[in-house]
Order: sequence, then C-alpha cells, then structure tokens
Amino acid sequence: MSFSELGLSDKVLGAIDAAGYKNPTPIQAQAIPHVLARRDVLGIAQTGTGKTAAFVLPMITMLEKGRARARMPRTLILEPTRELAAQVAESFEKYGKNHKLNVALIIGGVSFGDQDAKLLRGVDVLIATPGRLLDHSERGRLLLSGCELLIIDEADRMLDMGFIPDIERIGKLVPFTRQTLFFTATMPPEIQRIADTFLHNPVRVEVSKPATAASTITQLQVAVGREDFEKRATLRHLIDSAENFKNAIIFCNRKREVAVLHKSLVKHGYSAVALHGDLDQTSRMAALDAFRKGDAKLLIASDVAARGLDIPAVSHVFNFDVPHHPDDYVHRIGRTGRAGLTGTAISLVAPFDTKAVATIEKLMGMTIPWMGEPVAAAEPGERPARHGERSGGRGGRNRSQRGSRSQESRPRESHPRREQPQPRADNPPPVRAREPQPYRDRPQRDHVEPDASHLPAFLLRPVNIKA
Ligand code: AMP
Repeated sequence: MSFSELGLSDKVLGAIDAAGYKNPTPIQAQAIPHVLARRDVLGIAQTGTGKTAAFVLPMITMLEKGRARARMPRTLILEPTRELAAQVAESFEKYGKNHKLNVALIIGGVSFGDQDAKLLRGVDVLIATPGRLLDHSERGRLLLSGCELLIIDEADRMLDMGFIPDIERIGKLVPFTRQTLFFTATMPPEIQRIADTFLHNPVRVEVSKPATAASTITQLQVAVGREDFEKRATLRHLIDSAENFKNAIIFCNRKREVAVLHKSLVKHGYSAVALHGDLDQTSRMAALDAFRKGDAKLLIASDVAARGLDIPAVSHVFNFDVPHHPDDYVHRIGRTGRAGLTGTAISLVAPFDTKAVATIEKLMGMTIPWMGEPVAAAEPGERPARHGERSGGRGGRNRSQRGSRSQESRPRESHPRREQPQPRADNPPPVRAREPQPYRDRPQRDHVEPDASHLPAFLLRPVNIKA
C-alpha cells in the first residue's frame, strides 16, 4: 500500500515525500482512512510503530478546511508528559511544512503569558498535558466548545500517572459531537472503561504488540550486589567494556535514583544527562537534545520520563534497576535494536530482583542469558535496599563507614573488580572488557591513584601545603 491511496491531501503527501517515507506503517495504513472518514478510532499501538503520523497526517488534511477562532482551539491532543507533547508539536512542523497551521503547546514548566498570547491568536492544534490545560480553562482563557477532534495519546501512561480524573474532566469540556482518537499501548480494564466512555462506535485498530523483543536485540543479565555503589561500579565496567557502543539509555525505577546515578557518572567522567520528573522543562529539553545530537552518550531516565520518546539508534540499554512491571521491560529494551539495527540490553540483577526477572522471562517466553555467574536469589522476606541504606548492622552504616566519606566519593572503589562478571566457558558473553572508549573524556589526573581499598578515607584527601 502507498500513502497516495489513503486519502491524504497533496500538500500532506508532499511533506511525507520530503520526510523520506516510502510506505505507510501498519497503524497508518489501517487508521488514516477511518480518521479521514470522521470515525472514532481506538488505536492499540506503542511508540515506534509510526502512531504519531497515524493521527497527525489526517489531522492536517482535515484542518485545510476552516479556520481558528480566538481562544477556541479546533483540535486538541492530550499527552501524558511535556516531552511527548513537544515531540508531537515537532511532528506538526515536519508533516505540516506546506501548511500555515497555528500549533500551540500548553505544558507545565513554561510561562502562562506566552501560552495565553498564542491561545488568543486562535489555534488549529492545541497540544497539551492535562494539568496545564485545566489551569488555562479554569482561568477562563480557553474554551474547548469549538473542539472538533480530540486525541488522547498514551492513555495507559495517563492512567499510570494518575491523569484519568483530569482526562474525564476535559472530556466534559469538549463537545459531545466531536471525533475522538484514543491511543494506548495496553488495554487494562480501567483503560477499556475510559475508552468506552470517550468513544462512539469506534473502529479498533491494533498493531501487534512486541510481546517478544526484536530479534536484533541481544538481551543479557548480570549479577550485582545489593548495594547501589556496587551496582554503579558494575554499570561503569559494563559501559567501558561494551562492544559497538554508540550511546545508551540507563533506566532506573525511581527519579531519585536517576539523579544520584547521573551525578555519580558525571563525577566519573562520563558524558551523561538525566531525565526525571523533578527537572524543569528547559533542563529536560536540553538533556534530550544533547542526547539526540550525540553530545551526551548516556541518558539516565525513569520509565515515566522516557516513555514514548522517539530517540533513534540507541546501541545499548542498561536496566540499572530491574523494572517492577514486565511491560516496562519490553518498552525499555525496545529503545535499542530499532529499524533492523542491532542493540544490546543488559539488566543488572540483584538477589531481590530474581522474582521480577522470572516474570519478565515468562512474558518474553525466553530465558535471558547471564553474563558470568547467575545471582543467588534473596532469602524470602528480604527486601531491596533503598538508596543510602546499607545492608548488615543495625545502624545501617558499619563502623568502617561511619564518619568517613561515602563509598561513592572515595578516590577508588575496590568493588568493581570483585563484582566484574566472570564469563562462563560454555556461555561466552558477547560483551567483553576492552580499553575505555574515546567518549569517556575523563578528566585528566596528574597523579596516580593509590589503591584505596584498605586506607582510611582521611589519608586520601588532598592536602594543601602553603608555600
Ligand atoms: P512514532 O511511533 O510515532 O513515535 O514514530 C516512530 C518513528 O518512525 C519516528 O521517528 C517517525 O519519524 C518514523 N516514521 C513514522 N512513519 C513512518 C513511515 N511511514 N516510514 C518511515 N518512518 C516513519
């Protein structure tokens, strides 16, 4: 099937041509004709399938007729995160290059004033995160009564982030007669309920969910200790020894861990950026931009912050934490091995992660090979150590640590070597140790680091001697 058979306008076809797309993806081929026929659509597809263009291309075609009125957007796209909203806005620049569309991005973290001025001029496409949209609406700066088309994107993520009540409120502000397109990667019962309330006689379009990862991805797991500093040391070793390394996304389960790991990697001389919910909008955009351009080789992110972001050609994914939900594992590793390129996904597995890994393996229908020795499963009732928590000893920190700097800030850790995965003769790992990569760009040190493993920390601090 070709794009010209889908009913898109000539100007849109011109932009598709300029984008270099040859054929529509399955979700585009299936959804676009129905969108143009003004049907409601329930699209079950995840990022990477071309779903953004599946709604943006027909939208632009439909918007060629009619014009915008002040404070009354003609169409509304709801996105769970600011980055996703910004990414969709960018796709309007790409696919709408032959049109003069007024596109407004209404997201948190940027000033109300500019957004308000844009709304006043009249917008064809309003792309928003739910909270900020309701803020504008409550201030009386925005009327949704002229909205002809509502798009709810990444609905299951909205559910995870607690946005469903907001979505339901917004649903009451748009006309009952509007057309609705509803996209979700998964269909839990709560999402089915929301879909039923929002959609009228929808066409269901489903593209196969990659329950198994692309065959181009090499998946591995490596045993780590239960302490965060041990995990960080192993991660650094894995990065340094990775073959065909270009760049990597490192996933953590909590935003706090993202910040701690980012700080640590930067301190160790890696070019790394972080993406988590506590950063302001400008920092998040700058981080993404640096990673996309290749200025930063490592992106440390939480699932929520990274979900749906279109970051092409990532060579490696590291799961610093094993995700709690197996679906998140599929999303995470799907960041590499895209478009036929090969990729490697390595999970750091601590003793208390074995159950989560078993659930992932069940979903994937495969056993993830170990690099080196498998981890010993935790005793029943053992729980993961939180950041800053030390195992062993009632007071958390043991005697040798008390009063000294943290393990992380010591000039050299003794653990990386101990924790390095030992290759098994019958299962040689595809990733081998080698010299540090050129991107490391470590700060130059003019002294030889001592073996710090048995020295008290105070002996290792630099001493300033006055002349
Ligand atoms: P999405 O699933 O919307 O995030 O899109 C994933 C990536 O696929 C984006 O980088 C798009 O530019 C690209 N893409 C979308 N449609 C096509 C197509 N028909 N042919 C080639 N690439 C496409």
